[in-house]
This record gives sequence, C-alpha cells and structure tokens, in this order.
Amino acid sequence: MEVPFIDFSQQYQIIKEEIDVGLKSVFERGAFILGQEEKDFELDFARYCDASYGIGVNSGTDALYLALGCIDVGPGDEVILPSFTFIATALCVSYTGATPVFVDIEEETYNIDPERFKEAVTDKTKAVIPVHLYGQPADMKEIAALAKDRNIKVIEDAAQSHGATYNGKKVGSLGDIACFSFYPTKGLGAFGDGGMIVTDNKEVNDKAFMLRDCGRKDSYDHVIKGFNSRLDTVQAVVLAAKLKRLDEWNKKRNKIAAIYSDLLKDIDNVVCPIIKEDRTHVFQTFAVRVKNRDKVLEAMKKKGIGVLVHYPIPVHLQGAYSEMGYKKGDIPVSEKIADEILSLPMFPHMKIEQVEYVCGSLREILA
Ligand SMILES: *Cc1c(COP(=O)(O)O)cnc(C)c1O
Repeated sequence: MEVPFIDFSQQYQIIKEEIDVGLKSVFERGAFILGQEEKDFELDFARYCDASYGIGVNSGTDALYLALGCIDVGPGDEVILPSFTFIATALCVSYTGATPVFVDIEEETYNIDPERFKEAVTDKTKAVIPVHLYGQPADMKEIAALAKDRNIKVIEDAAQSHGATYNGKKVGSLGDIACFSFYPTKGLGAFGDGGMIVTDNKEVNDKAFMLRDCGRKDSYDHVIKGFNSRLDTVQAVVLAAKLKRLDEWNKKRNKIAAIYSDLLKDIDNVVCPIIKEDRTHVFQTFAVRVKNRDKVLEAMKKKGIGVLVHYPIPVHLQGAYSEMGYKKGDIPVSEKIADEILSLPMFPHMKIEQVEYVCGSLREILA
C-alpha cells in the first residue's frame, strides 16, 4: 500500500464547484488585488478566531515580520522564541535587526517552556513568540502573565494551529497579535502562498494594513515605508471555501489522531502526542517519537509511507544562525526531540486502512 504524507484530492473535490464559481467571478471582474473576496475573507477569518481584525498578507513569514513591525521591534531589541520550530519564526526577528533569543520547549507538548521564557527575559525583551506547534496551543496563561508584568508583547505563531483552542478561547485571540500561514500543507491551506495577521488592537490593524501595502494610507499617499505583501483575491476564494469546512476537517484529523494513538499505544518506544486538558489540538501534524529515528524513517519510506521530520535541526543549531555561537547541548530538550520526532501521514480524509497500514508497518519495523 502507498500512503502519501498528505493527499488533498478529496478536499479539492468537495470545494471544486464552489471555487470554480468564485474564481470565475474574480477572473471576469479582474479583481485580483485586494478584491471584495479578500476583504470578506479577512473579516470571516478574524471572526473565526474571535478577533476583531484580520489583515491578509502573502505568507506566514511576512505575517510574523509585519507583526513585529507593527510593534516597532528593531535593532537592540530581543525577541524570545522556542528553538524547536520552523525557521521562519526566527527569520522574521532577524529581518527586523532585533536579536532572536532561543529558549527550550516542554517535553510533553513540544511548545515553549514558560520557565525558560521567564529566565530569558531581560530589559531588552520586546516580544515573545510562542509557537502552537503541530496544532496544539502553547501554555499561554503563564506566558501572558509574565509578559504583562514586563510589558512584553505576545505574538502567537499560529501557522500550524488554525481552529485550536486554549481554555475555550481560539488561537488567534490569545496574545496581542497572531500570525497565520496558509501555505498549502497547513490546516487551512491556499493553492499557493498566503498568510494573515489577526488582532484586536486597532492601531496594530491600521499599521499592518499600511505595512502590507506599500505604506499607503490612500491610493498614492504613502505615510510609512511599507512592503508589498498582500493576500491574492484568488487565494481568498479558495480559503473561504475551506474555512467553512475547517471545523469538520479538524474533527476528522482528531479522529485519525485518536485511531493512531490507540493503535500505537502498546508499542514500546513510541511516544504519542499528549493533549493537555485545557486545550484542543488540531493535528496539522501527527508526530510521534521513536529511537533510531533516521533508520525508522528510511524503513517507513521503503514500505511506501510518506513520512517527514518536523524538524531535524533546532534553529539555534542551523547554519543560518551559526554566528550566534550556540553549540550542541545548549538547548537540550529541543535537541533531543529533534533527534526522535517523526511526522506520520495526516490529512482529514485519510482512510482507516491507511492509518492501520502505517501503524502495522511501524510495529513491524520496531519489532
Ligand atoms: C509554515 C510556518 C511558518 C511560515 O509560514 P509561510 O507561510 O510558509 O511563510 C512560520 N512558523 C511556523 C511554525 C510554520 O509552521
């Protein structure tokens, strides 16, 4: 049996007619840039997140970069983030000229450890970026409390967690600003690149609108040095159709995750995801931990199973950050998880037989 890492063909069949109509309308009207569908989707997505404002941008990376711009992060500032994340979380800090300060994660959730955040705070700390990795929110209560005390802004990296909740509150409404990615493989994925900044803060909203559109206040009235980072209307049509089904698809992901966990629970040396009681997980990624991960990875591939590693190298050990002088052992939990983590196939319309085949294969390989 072949089990791809992701297969969105069923998703496409479900939304096909709806997006055909929507795209035709965009094409006929030529409303490609910031068309009505884009504006409508911004509002719909912000509402979905229980937030007031949504600003569509061209990627999750830009959402993070522009969010930092909205709160004037720049040279001399420090921004704290987990080392175990996709590198974009750190790159956006570097783009501003500020210093990324890498801290360790919790072994249970793979999210930023509030204690390590606390230790890393200095007078220069301007912001913290908790990442809701794989689809489970970080421990936002602890982080928000400390951040408030020290006047540190909280920017959620919600690129992997569309629709997840923490104490009943939606991701996107848990900090000062939230940043989403609509990269195709994310829980809510476009047919290309896209992203969104979500916030309740009117000033952030107003600045983000200008930053993403050449700093313009009005058509040729440019009041700040902005960028060109807009969400295409065409992508908004696709995203709007998927947003309507997101809760249903997240439920399907949870069902698949439950089957995985059930079938894997008695295998020694496989660590399944732990969902904290005060949170819901959306399982953009279903990641387990195994010993000899690289060997297991190769053996799974040989059996026709699409497996990936998110992420094999924590950011503090990436070549791109070599100038910071981190060495192995500096951020131990992140390094350990990076050695053991393995992402199994996961998509809403995955068949039970496919899940069974993946689990059976893993059992055989580990035996
Ligand atoms: C995908 C991702 C990003 C970047 O989003 P892009 O749309 O690919 O630029 C940032 N942070 C995390 C955690 C991600 O998974």
